Amino acid sequence: MGDKTSSKLMCYCAFCKTPHRIYKKKGLGFWQFVVALTLTVSFMWSYWNSWNLQAIPLLLLSLFLSELILHFRWRLALICRQCGFDPLIYKKSPRLAASKVKSFLERRKKDPRFLLAPAIKFPKKIKSNPL
Ligand SMILES: [Zn+2]
Repeated sequence: MGDKTSSKLMCYCAFCKTPHRIYKKKGLGFWQFVVALTLTVSFMWSYWNSWNLQAIPLLLLSLFLSELILHFRWRLALICRQCGFDPLIYKKSPRLAASKVKSFLERRKKDPRFLLAPAIKFPKKIKSNPL
């Protein structure tokens, strides 16, 4: 549903069907590399006043930190803010995902930030046909 230039994508929670946005990319892109390189070169010129190979570990560190931050941002955006459903945990262990949703809903009952939030549309249980 989102436009092609946006870094976010509109999707719906698989549990409560609440719309939320997730990030398309979970890692570094070209522009993040350019920003890290620019920061490293500017630091190198302000500290050593010349080209210096000692800045390479600094570049690697900034790339690593950028990758880490982008991955955590992507990972946290996957979790539904209304019900706490995590699709990645659900793929590995549905029982663990269910227990996390239950604990989130218990915390949600006590949290005053959710007093005016819209009610969660719980999925209906499908009764097995006795035929
Ligand atoms: Zn949800």
